[in-house]
Formats: sequence, C-alpha cells, structure tokens
Amino acid sequence: MPATRRRRIRERLRELGVTVNVVEGAERSYLEVSGDDLPVRSLFPGHWEGVAEVIPLSPPYPHAAWGGGRGELARPTLVEVAGVPVGAGHFAVVAGPCALEEESRAIDIARAVKDGGARLFRGGAFKPRTSPYAFQGLEDEGLQMLRRVRESTGLPIVTEVMEGADLDKVAACADLLQVGSRSMHNYALLKRLSHLRTPVLLKRGLAATVEELLLAAEYLLSGGNTRVILCERGIRHAAGARQVILDLGAIPEIRRRTHLPVIVDPSHGSGAAYLVAPLARAAAAAGADGLMIEVHDDPERALSDGRQALRPAEFAALMEDVRAILGALGPDAPSPPSAPPPSPAIAAERREPAGKDR
Ligand code: PEP
Ligand code: MN
Repeated sequence: MPATRRRRIRERLRELGVTVNVVEGAERSYLEVSGDDLPVRSLFPGHWEGVAEVIPLSPPYPHAAWGGGRGELARPTLVEVAGVPVGAGHFAVVAGPCALEEESRAIDIARAVKDGGARLFRGGAFKPRTSPYAFQGLEDEGLQMLRRVRESTGLPIVTEVMEGADLDKVAACADLLQVGSRSMHNYALLKRLSHLRTPVLLKRGLAATVEELLLAAEYLLSGGNTRVILCERGIRHAAGARQVILDLGAIPEIRRRTHLPVIVDPSHGSGAAYLVAPLARAAAAAGADGLMIEVHDDPERALSDGRQALRPAEFAALMEDVRAILGALGPDAPSPPSAPPPSPAIAAERREPAGKDR
C-alpha cells in the first residue's frame, strides 16, 4: 500500500478516537485498532479506499456477549420475573392460550397449566396476525383479563406489546413484556423498552440470524434494561417441509455467545400440535432455559393458533417428560420446575366437587 494512503487511513482512524498499531505483513499491512472501536465497526470493505477488510476481534454486541465483549459477565444471567427465576440453572415454563378469549376460560387454562408445572401464564391481548381479517385480540379488555388471571392464580403474566403507544398500559398488566418475532426489528420499540425495568421476552425474527437477535438484545441492554430473555421460535427456510423450522442448533449457539437466558417456543416453531412435544423435549435436551407452550382446552374452537395448541392433559404429560429429561442430563442441567402443589382454588374444588353437599 502506498505510504501516503496508509498514513491517510491511520489519520482517519485516529480522528475516530482509537489507537492504531501497524503490523507489517508480507503482502498487506494490518492496522490494529484498540480503544473505543464502535465507530470503526460500522466501516465496511470498500468504504475507505485501501481498506480490504475489517475484522472485528470481539462481537458487536458488547453487553450481550460473554466476557469477551465489554459486558464483563462470566456467569449466566438470571432474570427474575415477579419472583420466578429464569436462566442460570432455572428452567422456566410459560404456558397459556395464544390469545385471550373468555375470562373464565383464561382462568381455567391458567390453573390447569399451573397444576402441570408452568410458572408463568401467557396470553395475547394485542395479537400480530398475518391476516388483517383474523382475530386481532381483545386489546384493552384482554389486559383487564390478565390482571384477573394473575389475581386468581398468582401466576406472573407474559403478554405481547406491539407498539410504543400501547406500552404504558400493557406494561401495567405484564410481568414479562413479549416482543414478538415480527417486532424484533422494531428498534424504536426496543429503545423504549430499554428504559424500563420490566423484563422483556425477545423473540427471534422469522428470518433473523442469531447475530441479529443478539444485536436486538443489545438495544435493550445498552439502554439500561438488563432483564432480557431470548426466545427461539423457529425461522423460515426455503427448503423446509413446513412453513417454519425450529432452529434447535440456535440454542447451543446462543448459549455460546451470550450470558442471557434462552427459552424455546415449539408451538410457533412448528405450527402443529403433534410436533410440539417432540420439539419441546429436544429443546430441553439441547440446553434451553425454558419453554413457551400454547395451551387451550378446546383447540378446535380457539380463536387463534388452535392447530398448534396442546390440551391441558397433553401439556401436563409433556412437563413430566421435560422433568425426566432435565433429570437425566445431570447436575449441569437447569433445575426443572418441581411438580407444583395444586393452586388453592383447585384444591378447594377437589375437596368439594361441584354439586356435592348442595
Ligand atoms: C405469540 O407468541 O403469540 C406470537 C405471535 O409469536 P411470534 O411472534 O413468535 O409469532
Ligand atoms: Mn400464537
């Protein structure tokens, strides 16, 4: 490289505030950059004349990365959702219907999944549907329902926020705010969520790489919200037999790259009830920190995603399998949620079956 060009590149790098060390190779010079290198990372080959390649030596998501980045975390992060631990050795199960429908149904499903071993209840009030003609969710009425599910069952609530304008009212009813796969790239929403302390469940975009998922998490972390749980929920693949493929390899990949917990959603990751249990078992075996499972008592009549919903009994059977798998993985596996005692309401029903002594 002509000396004048190299000098110009060095000067421009110094203007960006980094320290530059020149390493002479046989055919090329290498400019080793240290310091606050963020502005340099956005350079790309061809951007500056004479720069053939920019090789980052640490990941572009310093807060999400293990100790290699600027986030000095060497231990997995534990995210507490209203007292329920997720990650760092705690396996957490989120379950409930895709969308909220009738209140009594939501409460019954919540009690059933709690009985089966779920620690968090999910239910959508604002639904991102592919078709504008499909059920869009009960919106504000659904949010009120979530409050009552929490009051009746004690289960913390997971629900989706689709846009910034709804954030305050959704956050008031949620213990864990879900960012759906379609919103993973909504950086304006991520920036707003980054200023909250409410935990966020960040779902992988349908065509997002693991790196893009971690960069989306970086928006949340760098803005100050450290309570982030990632969710693998399947991706589009041109060669797939189905519309979506659950990317099981992403689990160890994500765990290798970040200290954040990762849970898996085999319901949206398959779109078919018969695939949910096998994929959930595989996800537990592959090192997931938890699962998110759609459950409905009458899938055929569900207003949304009934084809992929498990019935409560199927969910309970799956939880048995998951406990066995985690047990078989040995001491390094996350501790499974213990089979919970029946919730007070269910215990009362069991003691006094409907109609008895009346
Ligand atoms: C959901 O969890 O209800 C949902 C719509 O998921 P996703 O954003 O992954 O499609
Ligand atoms: Mn759904």
